[in-house]
Amino acid sequence: MTKIPPTLPLRALFDAQHSASRQQIDVPLALRRDRLARLRALIDTHGTALSDAVQADFGVRSRQVTEVADLFVLRAAIGQLHKELPHWMKTRRVPTPLYLQPASAHLQRQPLGVVGVIGPWNYPLQLNLGPAATALAAGNRVMLKPSELTPHSSALMASLVQGVFSAEEFSVVLGGADVAHDFASLPFDHLFFTGSTAVGRKVAAAAAANLTPTTLELGGKSPCIVDASCNLDEAALKIAHGKLLNAGQTCIAPDYVLLPRGQEAAFERAYSAAVARLFPVIAGNADYTAIVSDRHFARLQALLGEASAQGARVVDVAPAGPTGASTARQMNPTLVFDPSPGLRLMDEEIFGPILPVVAYGSVDEAIRYINARPRPLALYWFGSDAAVRERVMASTVSGGVSINDTLMHVAHEGLPFGGVGESGWGAYHGETGFLRFTQQKPVLVQSRFSMGHLFYPPYGARFDQIMALLKRWL
Ligand code: NAD
Repeated sequence: MTKIPPTLPLRALFDAQHSASRQQIDVPLALRRDRLARLRALIDTHGTALSDAVQADFGVRSRQVTEVADLFVLRAAIGQLHKELPHWMKTRRVPTPLYLQPASAHLQRQPLGVVGVIGPWNYPLQLNLGPAATALAAGNRVMLKPSELTPHSSALMASLVQGVFSAEEFSVVLGGADVAHDFASLPFDHLFFTGSTAVGRKVAAAAAANLTPTTLELGGKSPCIVDASCNLDEAALKIAHGKLLNAGQTCIAPDYVLLPRGQEAAFERAYSAAVARLFPVIAGNADYTAIVSDRHFARLQALLGEASAQGARVVDVAPAGPTGASTARQMNPTLVFDPSPGLRLMDEEIFGPILPVVAYGSVDEAIRYINARPRPLALYWFGSDAAVRERVMASTVSGGVSINDTLMHVAHEGLPFGGVGESGWGAYHGETGFLRFTQQKPVLVQSRFSMGHLFYPPYGARFDQIMALLKRWL
């Protein structure tokens, strides 16, 4: 295989991948598995260096968070792809209706060609290499553009990938918004974007010009409903874990809590205790991730400032040590009670350790609150009352759900992961992800005993009789 220099300009790199994808349309199982094995070896050999790079990007981000939320998830995904590929690649027979028999039909699963992946900074290994692995497993060439906000891990991924893949198989392109815009304008066979809803709109517009199909894995405000029937201490611990993993910089973090009116004081106690259990100290705690940039830190502080100024009760629930900003951008967890509806805090995705609490009187009120807003990426419900749970499930639409937990549905490779409405479109993980990057080509194989000629002109009495018969039968 000829080695293409990875420093090729963007368009030339795309052209090289495109031409290679058209020269080898049928990508055999052994080659797909070999690409997955190379990716797996890259992660295993350089796991520590990759974790260190993510730590350097954030300022504070523990090796264990990267181990569980990036590398473990990636290994699980690659392992499943490797195992299931022979089954997923197989042609599917499709039953043929009587009027077309004795023809037969099948779906042939083929690679799309060249897949573009644009990724975010919050879990930079999982959310860049995960979609790339799935696209490679489906037999595609991949161009990846990771985030400029994680320069260390993006640069390391680029050099490691370059070391084990030819540029026409899998390449990493580095750069900021300008490069990202040019990248999204390439005529990919599929463009897979993970990031904010605002940038997702731009990506969809750029892709539309080429009629490039997209998957948009976006964000938004994921509600967490606490039902009166729940064990508040257990729920608070799981909510605190989901909210404070990576300091709230998780697309499916519970954005805000809907709480039965009157339980505010009890929830404040339970949440504070949960935070103290998970993070006995905030500033200087290596387990507690820093906010990724000064700009995001300032944005979060401004959200809190506006909330206080407009009469919300902001409670700092950091258990000990100094409060306020630390040099490493480690931001104290806060609860915000009585937030007024006009606040940016209640309108924008928070993506930080601030948890607004919205009181509700009845489950219908909570459901109305959710349905009056864009459809969320995730929804959480805590409780033991099955009738209320079913009512909430039947009355709300979201990208995914965990019941009596937060985040965990994302870890189940058998469940499709994606958004709905403003939280995105298209899903991946497991076979759903494989099919996202696969053309299921429908093929009809005609038999020489076909009766098709009965429908040919010249039309006459025989044609009318057959149609009359079919009308009665269908
Ligand atoms: P972002 O939208 O700012 O950036 C994501 C990527 O888009 C980056 O690589 C960036 O360079 C690129 N980009 C910037 N301008 C572009 C343009 N004009 N055209 C094409 N690409 C462009 O998102 P972020 O700040 O990196 O990540 C945080 C957001 O991502 C949050 O909203 C979060 O909810 C969401 N997110 C979603 C998921 C999911 O799976 N649904 C996962 C993680 C993060």
